[in-house]
Amino acid sequence: MLKATCHCGSVHLSIPRKPRSLTNCNCSICRRYGTLWAYFQLSEVKVEAEPGVLQSYQWGDRMLDFMRCGRCGCIVQWRPVAPTDKSRTGINARMFEPEVLGDVKIRRLDGAKSWKVLKD
Ligand SMILES: [Zn+2]
Repeated sequence: MLKATCHCGSVHLSIPRKPRSLTNCNCSICRRYGTLWAYFQLSEVKVEAEPGVLQSYQWGDRMLDFMRCGRCGCIVQWRPVAPTDKSRTGINARMFEPEVLGDVKIRRLDGAKSWKVLKD
């Protein structure tokens, strides 16, 4: 497992492996958050926080919770509001030390319009 925390250390993240790529999405929420998403099965990751610290934001069709630390404000994860066995999640790779995920390729996703990966 690879581990990270939010800035204040209240939220602990564990992912099972280095992802093949990280996603820089330009949709209205991701570009504002400045997140870099690492995708996994929801069952593969662990997000642990002190009680009451995690807060969520939903918008649009309200299918996803964007989770943040209520103390330091870091965005740590998106996850489905109604998860199933096969649900995926995005973990914010920005929470990891540069030595851990700094060399993973970043792909640019046009989440604002086409939902296609943009050429470099
Ligand atoms: Zn925090």
